[in-house]
Amino acid sequence: MTVNDIKRFLDFRVSDVGAARLPEPFMGLGYVISLCIKLSDSVVDTITDKPTHTYFHHYRSVNRALDDASQLLGMYLQKNGYNFFPVAASQSVNIDGNPFRGVYSHKQAAVYCGLGFVGLNNLFIHTEFGPRVRLATVFTDCPVTERQAIKTDKKGYTACSECGRCIAACPAQAITPEGFDPKACSDYMKKEFQLIGRGSVCGICMKVCSDRAKQS
Ligand code: SF4
Ligand code: SF4
Repeated sequence: MTVNDIKRFLDFRVSDVGAARLPEPFMGLGYVISLCIKLSDSVVDTITDKPTHTYFHHYRSVNRALDDASQLLGMYLQKNGYNFFPVAASQSVNIDGNPFRGVYSHKQAAVYCGLGFVGLNNLFIHTEFGPRVRLATVFTDCPVTERQAIKTDKKGYTACSECGRCIAACPAQAITPEGFDPKACSDYMKKEFQLIGRGSVCGICMKVCSDRAKQS
């Protein structure tokens, strides 16, 4: 099976797909497939110094669409005789006392798959779509062709410019040149944005990073 086979199967359900062989198997499965959906620019543009109800709904809708695509892909793999393990698009589980971690880092999986990199704002930045994306991950024992996952034809983001816009814009001071503070980010969202998105979304650092991209 190749990445293009998966793209054809999922068709318009996702914006991009990558796959890679893992350095270490996860759940006994040696390959990872990363699914990416680009967010609506019109919706992300509604974010100012706070998120909006429209953004929160879109965020959840895209996560649900990613979970549906993961499940569909898993059934396709299963029908072809392979195992699969889907990771929810947005689910925090308390692993090793860290309440901010998921079962597996979607960002790490997407980096393995050659879809992009992680910026100073701790967001995954897709080589074509920038930071306005959501991700899901499916592990499998299907030996997905790796070669086609490497993006050599994409123009756009190749590295974080370290422009500092996300640092300046973050109202929680959660982003610094030294790293990202997930607790400061989470605490701020819970306190300030409880009535918008139940304190679980913000998006300011994504919005300003995208603004930068449009200028480049
Ligand atoms: S806003 Fe600038 S410094 Fe922050 S992640 Fe984007 S490119 Fe990097
Ligand atoms: S999501 Fe909001 S609070 Fe969290 S790091 Fe980005 S700008 Fe700061």
